[in-house]
Amino acid sequence: MSSLDEGSSDLAHTLELSKQPLQGLKLASHTVLEKAQQRGRSKCVKCGGSRMFFCYTCCLLVDVSLQEIPIVKLPVKIDIIKHPNETDGKSTAVHAKILAPSDITIYMYPSIPEYDQDKVVLVFPGPGAVTVQDMIQCLHERTDSRSRGPWVKRRKIENSPAATHSTENPGSGTSDEIKDCESRVYPLQRVVFIDSTWNQTNKISTDERLQDLLQVELRTRKTCFWRSQKGKPETYLATIEAIYYFLKDFHEQCLTQEYSGEYDNLLFFYSYLHTVVNKSKEAGRKQAQERKKQQETEKRL
Ligand SMILES: [Zn+2]
Repeated sequence: MSSLDEGSSDLAHTLELSKQPLQGLKLASHTVLEKAQQRGRSKCVKCGGSRMFFCYTCCLLVDVSLQEIPIVKLPVKIDIIKHPNETDGKSTAVHAKILAPSDITIYMYPSIPEYDQDKVVLVFPGPGAVTVQDMIQCLHERTDSRSRGPWVKRRKIENSPAATHSTENPGSGTSDEIKDCESRVYPLQRVVFIDSTWNQTNKISTDERLQDLLQVELRTRKTCFWRSQKGKPETYLATIEAIYYFLKDFHEQCLTQEYSGEYDNLLFFYSYLHTVVNKSKEAGRKQAQERKKQQETEKRL
């Protein structure tokens, strides 16, 4: 290992970290993306920009039809707050919006909706952050500590028609199943993610409109997720990965259901792009090795 300079050992480490979570996913076929890649970039019908697969500015598919990509149904609504300075092409927020259009909303900072702190959480690490597992209980405790009659309030909740909100996205699960899931995660209605680089993220997370929200952190992914971004922007876990890990934990720990790939297709584009990048890095590494071998042979002659 001593022959590796600091840069390449960092890169190897990064690839190792980022490769692990993308294995064994239940994904729709990537054939459509392979074919589109062979055809090359196309113009976005809305803005005219030259794009591959989708337009990150307009959040529209480009040269790929809606029927050809998987659509993912999420168990909870998700808002992504995007920093306007975040390079659009690098942001994976648009992957989420395209793959789960009815459950994901993107807001451009400083435009943030008004959130009800009893029903909305923010996925962001910090000293006061709780785990996904404890999130629902913590929301209840916060509500109870503010209200004088917690039991009255809870009973009202259980019988209230408001507890089963409208029939957006029917089709996945019977209404009884949906009700059951909703009551299990009540009062949670919405989960907020921040999509930006580290410095900007701090700025958004300290915005007073988000200050009172319960903060939730992804305990199991913490080390390769948040910490690695400081000073190393290329290694941070993308927004789409954070959403994916959150939902996986949510499914198992809050809905108490066995996870069997329900949200894997959120990584449909991401895993494909990852494969492409890894392939070209691998090719580059092989070339360098060949060159080195050649040089050594020449030296010996
Ligand atoms: Zn466009």
